[in-house]
Order: sequence, then structure tokens, then C-alpha cells
Amino acid sequence: MLNIVIFGPPGAGKGTQAELIANELKLIHISSGDLLRQELANGDLGQEIKKYQDAGELVPDSLVIKMVEKAIAQNLDKPGFIFDGYPRNLNQAVSLDTVLKTGRLELNAVLNLELDEQEAVNRIILRGQTSGRSDDNEETIKARFQTYQEKTLPLLDYYRRQNLLVNIDGRPTISEVTKQIMKILKK
Ligand code: AMP
Repeated sequence: MLNIVIFGPPGAGKGTQAELIANELKLIHISSGDLLRQELANGDLGQEIKKYQDAGELVPDSLVIKMVEKAIAQNLDKPGFIFDGYPRNLNQAVSLDTVLKTGRLELNAVLNLELDEQEAVNRIILRGQTSGRSDDNEETIKARFQTYQEKTLPLLDYYRRQNLLVNIDGRPTISEVTKQIMKILKK
């Protein structure tokens, strides 16, 4: 069993790396952003979710935590999980610890993909040309960074104290970053 959180600012490459690592190690990739976008497309809560996403704010915990818990519960027989974009605040982190513990699981590492804001913004704007995501525009990106600073960044301390935090340089090419991550996970 291997359970990993992939952490970092918007645009650092969390989704890309999570997908590659999940394929390589046969882990279940749980992206709270993807789960929310699916719910937005199919569920009754679409308008509500879109409002938060387009404002660059966090969707309420009650909804996000429930969705992630369901995804975990459906895959407890699998070799492990890679959480991408989750947790995004302390409440979610504590909830994740509890849920994993209940399933007799634990986190093995929190990989912090480091990238400075300007580079991350450039990447998101580039992605916006093809992603079709309504939150990949300059104004929302600014708000997403602010949310990251205020709500998400404090989690680094939470995981550092648990000795789980590993910093990874997010600047190199996709395949070089993947290589770095694999090297760390093999240890
Ligand atoms: P992402 O796909 O990770 O970039 O997330 C896109 C947007 O979905 C975020 O800006 C939030 O509005 C929402 N979102 C994704 N993950 C979470 C989460 N763990 N908690 C609250 N909101 C989230």
C-alpha cells in the first residue's frame, strides 16, 4: 500500500504528475478538482460548484470531503491512492487522516511541487487555451493563488511536523519531474 498526497500551487503540474505516477504504480488517482468538475457536469450541484470554482475559492468542505470519502471507500482493495488537489485546508487534512486510519491506512509521503507564481501563472494561461476550464483566466488565477496562500499553504507545516513532506523542484520538464518523484518513492 502506498498513499501519497501531491501538493503545490495551481499550475505546478499536480494533475499531470499524479496521472503519470498513478499509471506507473497502479495507484488510484483522486483529484478533487476532477471529481467536482464531474459533479458539475452531471449532478444537481453544478451551479453551486461553478460559482466557487469561477471565484477561485474553495468549494465547501461538506461537499468535497463527502466526494473524496466515497472515492476512497470504493477503492479500498486497490494498491493505494494518490491525492491531487486534496486536502486544500486543515479541516480536509484532519478528515483525510481519520478516514485513512479507519481503513487502516496511512499517508506515506506528501510531495510538494515547487514552482514560483509567475511560472505557474504562465502555465495555467497556456493550459487555458485548450483546457476549456472557465477558471483558467487571469482574474480567477489571481484569486486561486490567494486562496492557496491563505488556506492551503499552512498545510505544509502540518505535514512537515509529521515528517511526511518532500519538496520537489517543479521547474524541469514533465518527464524529469516524474523521474525525481519515482526516485523518492522508491526509497
Ligand atoms: P483544481 O482542479 O485542483 O485546480 O481545482 C479547481 C477548483 O476546484 C479549485 O479552485 C476549487 O474551487 C475547487 N476545488 C478543487 N479541490 C478542492 C478541495 N480539495 N477543496 C475545495 N475546493 C476544491
